[in-house]
Amino acid sequence: MENVIIIGTGPAGYTAAIYTARADLSPLILTGSQPGGQLTTTTDVENFPGFPDGVMGPELMQKMQQQAEKFGARVQNSVEVTSVEKNADGSFSVNAKQVFGTETMSWETKTVIIASGASARYLGIEGEMDLVKSGAGLTACATCDGAFYRDVPVAVIGGGDTAAEEATFLTKFAGKVYLVHRRDELRASKVMAQRTLDHPKIEPVWNSQVTDYLLDDNGRIRGVQLENTVDGTSSELAVEGVFMAIGHNPNSTFLSDELVDKDASGYVLQIPGKTATKTPGIFAAGDISDTVYRQGITAAGQGCAAAIEAEHYIAGL
Ligand code: NAP
Repeated sequence: MENVIIIGTGPAGYTAAIYTARADLSPLILTGSQPGGQLTTTTDVENFPGFPDGVMGPELMQKMQQQAEKFGARVQNSVEVTSVEKNADGSFSVNAKQVFGTETMSWETKTVIIASGASARYLGIEGEMDLVKSGAGLTACATCDGAFYRDVPVAVIGGGDTAAEEATFLTKFAGKVYLVHRRDELRASKVMAQRTLDHPKIEPVWNSQVTDYLLDDNGRIRGVQLENTVDGTSSELAVEGVFMAIGHNPNSTFLSDELVDKDASGYVLQIPGKTATKTPGIFAAGDISDTVYRQGITAAGQGCAAAIEAEHYIAGL
């Protein structure tokens, strides 16, 4: 019987692991198909406290893993959790399968910390994720990467509140912000849409879908190929950065509605002011429950909170 199983190895998962390991609970962490989480798809991270010169996303996650292991956390690589079940005695069964293989496995545990995060949606264009990983000018986080695009034109893709917010944020740095949307009306709330469209640095590009990324000789983005969604004509837009804002998918499909409540998009609902969920012993931390902040440091903070709540829960068993 495990004390704590942590599902996910982003900043929430590893911080929960550091805290529960230091509380002598010997946590087991299951990494999933993207060890290290979303930060492994970025290059320079300049807003994580403690790194005045910045740190590479993958390096930051490696350091968090080392810190957790130093205190006795155990990491099980490349297993994808398929379900979590509540047992008659109040414990939980965590069922998983190999990411690269067919073998299945199962553990029993007193508590579960869900830190499986969310994945930014991209367009599905071939080679897209390589551009994200290599820092070639494609990202899904203006807060993280906006400052790298001073006085150059950038494009935000999407028409929701996130796209509106990211476009407005980017006006602090970029010379020009094109807001590329597949329709001729924003989905964003009226007030945010109006504020965005009124901004002198933001220019909407209506009825347009990105069909390809245009690269310079160094493999960096120099523009995007657009297709008009009304008449099918194509055009090029010269930009040095592309900020994807077409939504996120929370990684919560393995969780049943009996175990946790979710919102309409699949984000796990926490009890207000806590990381606890509706099932005692199940905690949720980080982007799996966060539709607002979505930062490494906020996820880490929630991981800490979940660890402390899990520790108190186990002490009361
Ligand atoms: P969203 O509301 O789902 O909007 C996604 C946008 O991306 C839509 O405009 C959609 O176009 C477009 N899109 C989706 N798939 C696409 C594709 N394959 N190609 C091109 N465009 C595509 O997502 P979100 O903006 O991330 O917001 C998520 C939730 O968080 C919402 O409830 C939002 O209100 C909330 N939020 C609130 C705030 C705030 O209040 N400050 C800030 C951010 C987010 P269509 O419009 O044509 O469908």
